[in-house]
Amino acid sequence: MQHLVDKLLKNKTLTKEEFVQLIAGRNPETSEYLFKNARMVREKIYGKDIYIRGLIELTNYCKNDCYYCGIRHANKNVSRYRLKKEQVLACCEQGYRLGFRTFVLQGGEDPYYNVNRMTDIIRSIKQRFPDCAITLSLGENTYETYEAYRKAGADRYLLRHETANPLHYAKLHPSIMSSENRKRCLYDLKRLGFQVGSGFMVGSPFQTVEHLAEDLLFLAELNPHMVGIGPFISHHETPFANEKSGTLELTLFMLAILRLMFPSLLIPSTTALGTIDPFGREQGILSGANVVMPNLSPLDVREKYMIYDNKIATGLESSEYLHMLKEQMRKIGYEVVVARGDYKKQ
Ligand code: SAH
Repeated sequence: MQHLVDKLLKNKTLTKEEFVQLIAGRNPETSEYLFKNARMVREKIYGKDIYIRGLIELTNYCKNDCYYCGIRHANKNVSRYRLKKEQVLACCEQGYRLGFRTFVLQGGEDPYYNVNRMTDIIRSIKQRFPDCAITLSLGENTYETYEAYRKAGADRYLLRHETANPLHYAKLHPSIMSSENRKRCLYDLKRLGFQVGSGFMVGSPFQTVEHLAEDLLFLAELNPHMVGIGPFISHHETPFANEKSGTLELTLFMLAILRLMFPSLLIPSTTALGTIDPFGREQGILSGANVVMPNLSPLDVREKYMIYDNKIATGLESSEYLHMLKEQMRKIGYEVVVARGDYKKQ
């Protein structure tokens, strides 16, 4: 398998068959070799720097019914909340003091946040924190709406494609949602000049190694600035309540492949990684990730943004424990920096 890692390092991509071979045939030696190369590639561009993003979970109302997600519309046992502009600004204020220079507003698809309300929030943050970047992660929308967000000052947008295979996509979502529309959104966002993030879940129900290879090839075509991946984790009040979760091991392997494919990529070591393993976040960094997104949401809403069971929200991954996160990263040889942390062209 080592020859495929070498080939990937050199060509930045493989054929679908080769990706399948590499993923399906992986073993501890290949992984170690892949991780070592991923760290090397990452350090050439980003050194030992780790960028932090303050995650603000804007709303847990959602009009969609994704089969995997705990805050899906059909789940009547969620206590729903929406943050007001003043609350968002207070989160940013606290985050700024802690050293955050990027704020990520993530939420369900909630029509309450129409273009007027959303652009007002974006403009207010930009006015108060002009040296900060704003990232949005609010799901699918029209070109015109994304354009309004961009004009109001949003810099980046995260929208995971979830799975690039349309048939697999249809097994994870109701029929009114489509892989095609999600991809259309991603291309619209790129055209509008956002730094764009995509990604997928690892180990989602019905996923095959071929699907994972297709995810990588779709990303090669999209050429995003950021890619977030994390293990699928079941939520007890969804149709996938009894499905197996994805593994740390495969997620780390996929993450390291991404680093070799896209040397400059911004890759978060995600909350889902930290949820399935107490050292998941560190291992993500040691496999090539360079971003961490601590939770900055108001404390009283954190338990309500439960997209999967046992999602960690108030411990080490939260902004209150930033000093401990810094210490953990220092222990493995990395340094959390105060910076916007934009994408670096190679
Ligand atoms: N509504 C926004 C934000 C979704 S939450 C959007 O559509 O983009 C962010 C990500 O969490 C999703 O893109 C999905 O990949 C991930 N996620 C949702 N449910 C999950 C689960 N049960 N396990 C793991 N990840 C999940």
